Amino acid sequence: MSERLDTGILVVGGGPAGYVTAIRAAQYDLDVTLVEMDALGGTCLNRGCIPSKALISAADVAHDARTSSQMGISAEVDINFQRMVEWKDDIVGRMNRSVEKLCKANGVSLVEGHAAFEDEHSVSIEKSDGQSERITFEYAVVATGSRPIELPGFEFHRSNVLDAKGALELDELPASLVVVGAGYIGMELSMLFAKLGVEITVVEALDSMMPAFSPDLIAPVASAASELGMEMNYGELASECHPTDQGVVVTTEEADDGDRQEYEADAVLIAVGRTPVTNTMALGRIGLEPDDDGFLRTDEYGRTAVDHVFAVGDVAGEPMLAHAGSMEGEIAASEIAGRNTPAVNRAIPAVAFTSPEIATVGLSEAEAKETQHSVSVGEFPMRASGRALTTGHTEGFVRLVCGDSNVVLGGQVVGPEASELISEIALAVDEGLPTDELAEVIHPHPTLSESIGEAAANEQDIAIHTLNR
Ligand code: FAD
Ligand code: NAD
Repeated sequence: MSERLDTGILVVGGGPAGYVTAIRAAQYDLDVTLVEMDALGGTCLNRGCIPSKALISAADVAHDARTSSQMGISAEVDINFQRMVEWKDDIVGRMNRSVEKLCKANGVSLVEGHAAFEDEHSVSIEKSDGQSERITFEYAVVATGSRPIELPGFEFHRSNVLDAKGALELDELPASLVVVGAGYIGMELSMLFAKLGVEITVVEALDSMMPAFSPDLIAPVASAASELGMEMNYGELASECHPTDQGVVVTTEEADDGDRQEYEADAVLIAVGRTPVTNTMALGRIGLEPDDDGFLRTDEYGRTAVDHVFAVGDVAGEPMLAHAGSMEGEIAASEIAGRNTPAVNRAIPAVAFTSPEIATVGLSEAEAKETQHSVSVGEFPMRASGRALTTGHTEGFVRLVCGDSNVVLGGQVVGPEASELISEIALAVDEGLPTDELAEVIHPHPTLSESIGEAAANEQDIAIHTLNR
């Protein structure tokens, strides 16, 4: 006699990959249970995207107020950090409740607890009150996310050694902060704290910040960092951390000759990357092993080596971005529901919420040259945008990268609202639009989005507000 299964799909992990999988599967009339051991929304909502962007927005208001004398505004800015933190926590709390409501309204059963496989069709759930239960399932989706990499000697339990979560949960501003790693987290958070008056020293092993982005995209961010008074130290590996009466002293070793430097601050933030969480679910009991990079390997639908077990989000590989995880969840749900939707290789935007913002999608010019006979670019500088001038933020540019038949294959934006502008370019890439069609789209005036139409026109040599090539 076959055992009756408790749920059709068991999703483990309530981050943007897991809860989106669960809601989409429920929309397909599947019977779904979502297990989360901490807070719904995962890293993104509780200790990542949302709290960081809330504090970045608040720090921008303070910074703009201090630096808008050319608009006739001068202000003494008084920062009540406790109030700022309450405001940020309130946003997180509201979104936690919305995710819960959305799950329930879509018919997802929510279970609080830590899930671990018992066998190929069951998990045990350890609850926070010490109780446990067993849930059997037909399909499982592993969406257990990622955690920050810990450097030896910089363990996060040590006082004044912070990961991003610790930095976003501070209830008092430190006077000074050493930031190890000038990647996404290091640059977003150090610029935010610099705007709030914290003295920042950044230590980066490589010879530039955010190596995923090209030097011309990084240049405006590097000059903004210098204007904020941030000390950037490249080519140095953080190697030791010692407590002092005031905070910490961080020792670094120069990558080329091993020379040692010391930096003292109230605290150190470690932002040297994140690693997938593959040790919470006893994956070995069903024969699942992480690959050499620590991720669960999947096919394009999210299916792992075990046919009825899927993996989505940070645990399933790069890029470790919330919107990538959500898209993977939607594809996995569709596959489990038997919708036979082809997994389309969509362009995934990437955004650094620095000052100014950097956003990219699709191919760079160099990447396009690898596959296309003819590659061309269209560009528009922000200083030529009337709207950019009216906001007081004129640094940066929009670039479209086109391949054969002038089809847009990628784009890069650095400047105000780059995070918003990139979506129109993502649409053009996804739809295979050529620049003549993009240039015909009527963009409202005066807006930053006109820059995209102008960059498309520039590629066609018919831009009005910038000189053509
Ligand atoms: P997670 O969000 O990590 O969720 C996994 C969940 O699984 C967790 O809630 C965890 O408690 C739960 N879990 C794990 N094991 C078990 C178990 N055995 N049982 C039950 N539950 C379990 N990305 C962007 O796209 N844009 C940004 O602006 C951005 N900013 C970021 C800022 C910071 C400071 C950080 C740290 C990250 C940021 N990210 C950003 C990355 C983004 O947060 C992640 O890509 C995203 O959260 C991954 O989603 P996920 O669902 O795969 O995993
Ligand atoms: P990262 O990979 O972006 O950057 C880590 C940096 O640390 C690298 O530049 C690396 O060279 C440096 N580094 C490593 N070891 C070092 C050492 N010992 N001393 C000095 N420098 C060292 O990683 P992150 O900033 O921790 O972010 C992790 C991930 O989180 C990102 O890759 C991204 O997927 C996600 N994230 C995304 C966003 C966003 O989308 N806006 C924001 C934050 C985080």
